[in-house]
Amino acid sequence: MRIIINKVTQRPPHAPISERAIEERLAGSGARFTSGRRQVVAALSGADGPRSAAELHEEMGGEVPVSSVYRSLAVLEQAGVVEPHHGARGLTRYEMAEWLAGHHHHLVCESCGGVEDIELPKQLEVELERLVGKVSGLSSFSASGHALEVDGRCERCR
Ligand SMILES: [Zn+2]
Ligand SMILES: [Zn+2]
Repeated sequence: MRIIINKVTQRPPHAPISERAIEERLAGSGARFTSGRRQVVAALSGADGPRSAAELHEEMGGEVPVSSVYRSLAVLEQAGVVEPHHGARGLTRYEMAEWLAGHHHHLVCESCGGVEDIELPKQLEVELERLVGKVSGLSSFSASGHALEVDGRCERCR
């Protein structure tokens, strides 16, 4: 899929996430918001796109073992705090769930495999919603949401 978007706004750093909401969500699935999980949430909410366990491990300074990052991600995913993003090359990256991070889309680099978050201006989002309605109408599908993934080359790889 190749879509040219003329007017995009680079996704600002995530709005401050509600620690309390995460804590409650975790409690709902019988888990605690441990310091290891807090570190993963802090790293993920500060990132400009989805991250793999290995990437998080590195960005967190390498102090938390990658195995523990994996386990934290599994617990957070189970509770619906983070969501997986299945990228190219079978690599699973995670990001804060949409109810925490807000609605956005992804720019996927075919060269380095990096994934960047992008938030569309309201008007473009409305146009996209209209387009999604037309697309789902083609097969009498009832759309409940959408996610746009744009393939191409990132700034570093161009
Ligand atoms: Zn790239
Ligand atoms: Zn994202």
